[in-house]
Amino acid sequence: MRIILLGPPGAGKGTQAVRLVERLGIPQLSTGDMLRSAVSAGTPIGLQAKALMDRGDLVPDEVVVGIIADRIREPDAVGGFILDGFPRTVAQAEAFDAMLAKNGSKLDAVVELKVDQEALVDRIVKRAKEAEARGEPVRKDDNPEVFKTRLDAYRTQTAPLSEYYVAHGMLRPVDGMRSVDEVTEAIRNVLGR
Ligand code: AMP
Repeated sequence: MRIILLGPPGAGKGTQAVRLVERLGIPQLSTGDMLRSAVSAGTPIGLQAKALMDRGDLVPDEVVVGIIADRIREPDAVGGFILDGFPRTVAQAEAFDAMLAKNGSKLDAVVELKVDQEALVDRIVKRAKEAEARGEPVRKDDNPEVFKTRLDAYRTQTAPLSEYYVAHGMLRPVDGMRSVDEVTEAIRNVLGR
């Protein structure tokens, strides 16, 4: 299956993606994770992305489209994948559609986690505290100020994707405000597996 997880930062896409990986046996492709690795490794892409990511802005479309085009050709992704954090603009979605068409493959579903955006800042503060308590590094962009920019980027650049995928008959909305298990169950229902 080829699935896109859509939803604002802090909606729980990463958490649900991990569960889908276990259940469906296909990889999670997170552009955020790939970009963070590029930043840590100091690659040219990482150097280009770092300042944008630190302030919560989006990385240019051509950069992430290039990363995904390479990644979906890798052997583990040929049979399907769960996209987490991509596409984030209509231009990315169009480029992705063209990529799939060229490969002769198609998307199965776009699962949108619908959440109350007011609740997201609290969630992000909690996520940072939990990571800290586990002794894990806290994401630099998980602080309320940068988070606001990330949410603005979502509202202006990513939210229009819902309409895009409705028009393509692909959108499967799910209530993301319920417990993690309930959201997992709702996703299982909309995917039919
Ligand atoms: P995430 O881990 O998905 O929250 O992504 C962290 C940051 O990486 C975002 O705030 C953006 O700066 C960048 N990023 C991740 N995915 C994309 C994308 N598809 N398009 C543009 N920027 C992205």
